[in-house]
Amino acid sequence: MIIKIKWKTLMILSIIFISAASLYIFTNKSLSVSANEEKGFIKWVDFRVSYDAMDKALKADINSIDEEVKLDWIQLLAYLGTRYGGNFSNYKPKDMDNFINRLKSGESMEDMTKDLTHYNYYYEAYRAVLEGFVGPYEIQVNDENSPDKKIWVKKYGLKAFSPIAGGYYYGHYDDFGNSRNYGFRRVHLGNDLVGSVGTPVIAVESGRIEALGWNQYGGWRIGIRSLDNKRYYYYAHLRKDHPYVKTLKEGDKVLAGDVIGYLGMTGYSIKENINNINNPHLHFGMQLIFDESQKETLAEIWIDVYRIVKLLNRNRSPVTYNKDTKEFERIYDIRFHNAERKVSS
Ligand SMILES: [Zn+2]
Repeated sequence: MIIKIKWKTLMILSIIFISAASLYIFTNKSLSVSANEEKGFIKWVDFRVSYDAMDKALKADINSIDEEVKLDWIQLLAYLGTRYGGNFSNYKPKDMDNFINRLKSGESMEDMTKDLTHYNYYYEAYRAVLEGFVGPYEIQVNDENSPDKKIWVKKYGLKAFSPIAGGYYYGHYDDFGNSRNYGFRRVHLGNDLVGSVGTPVIAVESGRIEALGWNQYGGWRIGIRSLDNKRYYYYAHLRKDHPYVKTLKEGDKVLAGDVIGYLGMTGYSIKENINNINNPHLHFGMQLIFDESQKETLAEIWIDVYRIVKLLNRNRSPVTYNKDTKEFERIYDIRFHNAERKVSS
């Protein structure tokens, strides 16, 4: 009898021990699996979507806002990107028309992309680039009944702005990847917008000011992180003596279309406030961040923004000079449901 009880106890204890042990092993295993999965972020993006494809996809997205099948321009571009292996020199408008027609006739995205192995990669990569560009917003317009007044209107569409204020001339070409000689040998990781010193520089997308100050290469520069943390906008070579809107500081939040600084020719100097750039221009760059480990390392992903700047040219923020603050400021204010202007303390 005593032995029997002991055996029973032993068996129960064994079962408890084995269950606990396997639970422990299982938990640890699933933890290590999910840690590995978290490391599965995108490591490289070569953004080669053509201007024409972006233009057509954007129009299709905006025009379908009230239709039964709402088109998403990023999905359209990701589908074509997958078909072309990312190379839009093969782009044909009828490829997009065919895809749009299939969506409109009721075929589902899931069905059309299920055999395309790389669709998820292109969708995630293009979304990281373009997600902050299109959506609903409210903006001021002139009141037709009383010209001195402005009224708010609700809109849907391109809500990102050109980095150059409305009414100011600039010139640019695709100079991404060109070699640069200052410092060590390196390539050009942005687009140079050549203009006059003092031209107001505009925040392309809403975000938080992450860097503001002198940098040996960029001179006076501002770095702004998008609110979803995926994009880092870099505005460099700002004007000597008065590079930024003076009230701005790190941690502040700005809205798309706000004046943030002024075009100049500072940089290429360890010493601050030096004009060592030969021709006045804004260096504009965009870095993608899928994981914080990519922020300031050799693994940084900078994309070619030339065609993006071209696309954003249709949305310029008009500005006016304020004599009291001695700064330029936007004429038409903007509101977003998910972004607020904020001064950090
Ligand atoms: Zn540059």
